[in-house]
Amino acid sequence: MFNAILIEDQPHYRASVTSLNRQQLPKNDVQVQVDYSSLNYKDALAITGKAPVVRQFPLVPGIDFAGTVTHSDSDSFQSGDKVLLNGWGVGEKYWGGLAQYATAPASMLQRLPAGISTKQAMILGTAGYTAMLCIQALQRHGTTPAHGSILVTGANGGVGSVAILLLARLGYQVTASTGRPEEAEQLKKLGASDIIDRAELSSAGKPLAKERWAGAVDSVGSHTLASVCASTKYGGAVAACGLAQGMDFPASVAPFILRGITLYGIDSVMQPMPARVAAWQQLATLLTPADYQLIGHEMALSEIIPAATLLLEGKIRGRIVVDVNR
Ligand code: NDP
Repeated sequence: MFNAILIEDQPHYRASVTSLNRQQLPKNDVQVQVDYSSLNYKDALAITGKAPVVRQFPLVPGIDFAGTVTHSDSDSFQSGDKVLLNGWGVGEKYWGGLAQYATAPASMLQRLPAGISTKQAMILGTAGYTAMLCIQALQRHGTTPAHGSILVTGANGGVGSVAILLLARLGYQVTASTGRPEEAEQLKKLGASDIIDRAELSSAGKPLAKERWAGAVDSVGSHTLASVCASTKYGGAVAACGLAQGMDFPASVAPFILRGITLYGIDSVMQPMPARVAAWQQLATLLTPADYQLIGHEMALSEIIPAATLLLEGKIRGRIVVDVNR
């Protein structure tokens, strides 16, 4: 038997911590004893039922996990291997990581990068890996620290916090946009040099505004993303990955056709394996043990259901790493 969060839709939608039998795990070629999972925005939507994230019931949520292989029918992995998984529909269509055991096809698993622990991997989790994908898009675009400051929206959130830390490590000057100015000191510890109120960006603005940022990592969407594009410098780039404000994008073409800016869409879920491995390798290289302590807060599996509501209310700072074994 093992503990898991289980989402059921009968007699009504609900998530609970429950005890399951390993025979109930979906049949896949690799079984993993999970050390840590994490609480991502999408997990919070799944647990609370605030958006139709869950596509089959009953379902164990958790879009990521890291742990140790306990059984493998695949040549790619052996018992004892340390592995991690992000996305691929896990925690939406397939049983996920908020449990002591999980199974997955070998093709969805990757080896833990050298130099980081399963806990550190899940402090970063999908939010951190997505932040890295966003920054790699800006790097491929050719945006360097010499071009100017990079804006990070949703700064106190999971993607935002890790993006600030990584950009600062890479030598960029970072402007953090937040609705929680009281967290300014923490944002500066992460590496932000300037902090702006998110209200400056979150309502309808002009098609073109003053050129302020060489690039941006946006996890907020809606009017904020439109304002970010309108104030990106000539030739700059914006990496968009989220919808914390909304899924809409009420923008004009002006920044694209008059300033030649580029908008990169970032999806972590179906990212091909070579790009995942490259992102995780860069994460493992850039961060120090002290960095993980700055962004990660550990919680037990039993604390995650109420924490999901707090996360959607914007009351959680940084990343929640979940010890599934307590
Ligand atoms: P968090 O909840 O940790 O952070 C979101 C942050 O956005 C909040 O902390 C808050 O930051 C800000 N925010 C919240 N509500 C609003 C609002 N109404 N208007 C403006 N800002 C707001 O979530 P994550 O960082 O984990 O994820 C952020 C987004 O990225 C989500 O939409 C998520 O689904 C998406 N995502 C997408 C991925 C992909 O593959 N494309 C992968 C991972 C995440 P502050 O208090 O500082 O203002």
